[in-house]
Amino acid sequence: MTQDIDLNQQLFARAQKVIPGGVNSPVRAFKAVGGTPRFVSKAQGAYFWDANGRRYTDYIGSWGPMILGHGHPAVVEAVQRAVLEGFSYGAPTEREVELAEEILKLVPSMDMVRLVSSGTEAGMSAIRLARGATGRKTLIKFEGCYHGHADALLVKAGSGLATFGNPTSAGVPPEVVQHTLVLEYNNVAQLEEAFSLHGPDVACLIIEPIAGNMNFVRASVPFMQRCRELCSQHGALLVFDEVMTGFRVGLQSAQGVYAESIPGFKPDMTVLGKVIGGGMPLAAFGGSRAVMEQLAPLGPVYQAGTLSGNPVATACGLATLREVQKPGFYEDLSRTTRLLVNGLTQAALGAEVPFCGDSEGGMFGFFLLDALPANYGQVMKTSNPRFNHLFHGLLDRGVYIAPALYEAGFVSAAHTEADIAATVAAAREVFETLPK
Ligand code: PLP
Repeated sequence: MTQDIDLNQQLFARAQKVIPGGVNSPVRAFKAVGGTPRFVSKAQGAYFWDANGRRYTDYIGSWGPMILGHGHPAVVEAVQRAVLEGFSYGAPTEREVELAEEILKLVPSMDMVRLVSSGTEAGMSAIRLARGATGRKTLIKFEGCYHGHADALLVKAGSGLATFGNPTSAGVPPEVVQHTLVLEYNNVAQLEEAFSLHGPDVACLIIEPIAGNMNFVRASVPFMQRCRELCSQHGALLVFDEVMTGFRVGLQSAQGVYAESIPGFKPDMTVLGKVIGGGMPLAAFGGSRAVMEQLAPLGPVYQAGTLSGNPVATACGLATLREVQKPGFYEDLSRTTRLLVNGLTQAALGAEVPFCGDSEGGMFGFFLLDALPANYGQVMKTSNPRFNHLFHGLLDRGVYIAPALYEAGFVSAAHTEADIAATVAAAREVFETLPK
């Protein structure tokens, strides 16, 4: 056992005495893959260093926000300037107006936006607003999509389409999820049946357009088109949860990707987070003026936040959004990400390991399967022990990917071709040792 592992272990033992499971968000505990979480001491560019100063190439990037890499100079400067002017006022600022204007300029499906502090808060508030604006109760979500940990969303499918979901967490009474209908991702027939049974009661359908919480699974174009048509037909709101995909898969986000295949396509509401805060607690939800004006203080749907539109977080988000608009940003990011996925695929095939991967912009996923899955059930057919072997093999070689097979990965603008080549070389070694 090396010295650096000891220091991570020491910190983990200390953390477990004072923080449940030693972590402030469950996946960080490495429960799915086993072993000791790396305690990060600092990060720069494409790398972070653990408690004992060991360097890792970071393919998580704080689970998506760090699209520029860590410590981008323009972002650091903006944050430093903002900090000197005060941390939080609980009163409006010009900077939050600027950020709202910037987001609306880049996401034309929204007329107005409200800033909040986390993706969970944004998703929960968007659903409350959709219910308030439509006067309806039913919410449709899809198995394998995560929209934060609000009670009504911690739910798995019931036994049939006539029945609603069951809570996936203790502490959520069944009554709280009784209006949540959970459907299979990419299943058009089931979607049609759900609308024919419940259409007049559906307030909204919320979807991760490219699902990053079951690794990386795209909604097919025909499925997305049906989601759009059925929502419009039944007066339900189509809510795009772009907390992960927003400004991550492209400057037009995932809605731009679908608009390329479905002319005129746009969601009714959008939920954003991660990249728009550049690593600070910041998220947002928005939609048409008519819907957004239902929010307090204008309308009857209540929503509020002490730290909402925080001046330091908005400075960080604005600086990040300015960088991603520079010419060629997403072309370069997409190329680097594709280089990684193609390199991993070749390395796996060379070792006769079943493997397939996909990416969009700076978001990627891969599976130890022969074909890309289309829904959660298929994702879960991936072998856990083999994934865990791959994870630890890469970690031992200084490559940090998500410590669970159902999570997407992220490449930043700071990752170079040399970083990718080193990662692929490490993966090639591990694939050779993967149990058959
Ligand atoms: N929605 C999606 C698609 C997410 O990936 C996440 C978090 O990973 C959330 C919502 C919740 O965001 P947060 O963790 O900021 O509460």
